[in-house]
Amino acid sequence: MAGEPQDDCLFCKIVAGQIPATIVRETETTVAFRDINPQAPTHVLVIPKAHHKDAGALAAEAPQLAADVLRETRAVADDEKLDSYRTVFNTGGGAGQTVWHAHAHVLGGRGLEWPPG
Ligand code: AMP
Ligand code: ZN
Repeated sequence: MAGEPQDDCLFCKIVAGQIPATIVRETETTVAFRDINPQAPTHVLVIPKAHHKDAGALAAEAPQLAADVLRETRAVADDEKLDSYRTVFNTGGGAGQTVWHAHAHVLGGRGLEWPPG
């Protein structure tokens, strides 16, 4: 069911403390941790603690939680002292989604090309 922890979900396991992560921020509803394979000097993932499969599902199923995630992306950027940064929600395998628990990538600390690849 939407929002329930999934046994086979890597990010649910990080939320539960079953897999270690470098957590940089935590709220009642969200966790932010460093990406294990950083693509920029700052590469942090912001996730809802509840399981939703992607950003669109999150917004439809739990709009306030989607807002919490977005607010935390800005908080991460502020903590990292980033004037410019990019927030990315990969959705679907063709766009590079590999973990099916909604997450925002916060990327910064280097020039970011537009359009992205
Ligand atoms: P995506 O490809 O958009 O689904 O993003 C998943 C991200 O999770 C990738 O950037 C991975 O590098 C990252 N990732 C995978 N496993 C871990 C982990 N154990 N800790 C932190 N980040 C991870
Ligand atoms: Zn999950």
